Amino acid sequence: MNKRFFGKAIALLLVLTMCFGFGCAKKDDARKIAGYTLEPSEGTYAYVIHTPHATWHLAAADIEMMGEEVFFDGLERILENQEADFTDAIAALDGYLDEVPVIDIYTDFSGRTEQAKLGAFGAYCRWNVPCIEIYQPDMAFAELLHEYAHYLTHCCMPYGIDGNFWSEAIAEYVSKFICKNRMFCSAYSEDGRTALAARGFANQDGDPDIRKMYCAAAAAIRDGSMIGQTVSVVSQAPAVMTERMLEHPTLTMLSYYEAGCFFDWLAERYGKALVFEHMTIGQGDFKDVFGEDFETLFFAWAEDNRTFCEENGLKLN
Ligand SMILES: [Zn+2]
Repeated sequence: MNKRFFGKAIALLLVLTMCFGFGCAKKDDARKIAGYTLEPSEGTYAYVIHTPHATWHLAAADIEMMGEEVFFDGLERILENQEADFTDAIAALDGYLDEVPVIDIYTDFSGRTEQAKLGAFGAYCRWNVPCIEIYQPDMAFAELLHEYAHYLTHCCMPYGIDGNFWSEAIAEYVSKFICKNRMFCSAYSEDGRTALAARGFANQDGDPDIRKMYCAAAAAIRDGSMIGQTVSVVSQAPAVMTERMLEHPTLTMLSYYEAGCFFDWLAERYGKALVFEHMTIGQGDFKDVFGEDFETLFFAWAEDNRTFCEENGLKLN
């Protein structure tokens, strides 16, 4: 599950600088994609690709719809980084995971892309199956690791996790705050990377720093600059930011940016173990677990985050 709706300022930063589309790389070999063998299949899925952590099922209709060259070029760009990213995500949860079986990933663009744009996601993890379905090829770069984090946390961690806040917050924490997320970074054009670096949103290697971007986006929401704009909140519905949401935050109406950032702060402050063991608590239970009520903690995080962004010169506009 993931966001599709961005506020205007966030969209400028996170979307317009990205080189969306399956179509920038060059395919070297029709039988190998990023070094993985393309195995013919039958029926709905024309090909299967096995990587150490995932089995990809490539829909015949999707390949026909996009054209072979565009489809496989885009897939290659994803697969060049997928294993390293998945390995990072597993490492981020080291000590808290049971066995991690190979996950099935299905392309499911045909007839779904327009529908998915109207909804709130470009990909989806069905953790009861489990599998990951990708609905929008251009969103795969930004969302695949988030969906894989859902898989790890819901299917491979021996902890209960409530939907909405806890589920989305830990998925954002893993995919945007802890992991480098090479797939996400690979979607930026050279111009986009240069522009991000000039504004302080680059790490020591000069790559896009997703953590800083998310902190700045969360700070922009908290300072009220997104009021009246649509943001995606963890209860899955796009919502228009209001004064009331600023003054009286609730777990279910936090944006993905706030949720991931707040979770990261909780894990830093109280330790992963305490947070992971309480991913079913409601808003009224925070005082029992963390010693302070939810609003007190949330506003303390927001203040720390604002300070961090100011000290690092991180601003969306
Ligand atoms: Zn999600």
